[in-house]
Amino acid sequence: MSFEPDETYDVYRKTIRRANKEHVCDACKCTIRPGDTYAHVATVFEGSAETCKRCGRCEKIHAHLADIGARHGTYPMERLDCGQSYEDEWGECPTDIQELAFATEDEAGRILDKDQERR
Ligand SMILES: [Zn+2]
Repeated sequence: MSFEPDETYDVYRKTIRRANKEHVCDACKCTIRPGDTYAHVATVFEGSAETCKRCGRCEKIHAHLADIGARHGTYPMERLDCGQSYEDEWGECPTDIQELAFATEDEAGRILDKDQERR
């Protein structure tokens, strides 16, 4: 779920937003509904700008992969679309990350709320 970066983004800006209208998660393609919190990522790499939206579930998965990747010199794809399986790359997936796959839409829309409250 990651690549080995030899360069870094020129710009990387991630904000946690509350949706005013429907969006589609660029990673899992689920609907981000009005009121849901989601991650909005804006990047510029070699002069080319991109944006990506991740639902709460995919943002948690991305953050987990960024954490473990930091120890191994890799960084997850913004849309989690590298095509590799977790087990092949990292071994057994932690239970709390596995459980994200079974989150309902309501739960996925509020996953990042809990993080916001802890700050
Ligand atoms: Zn998603």
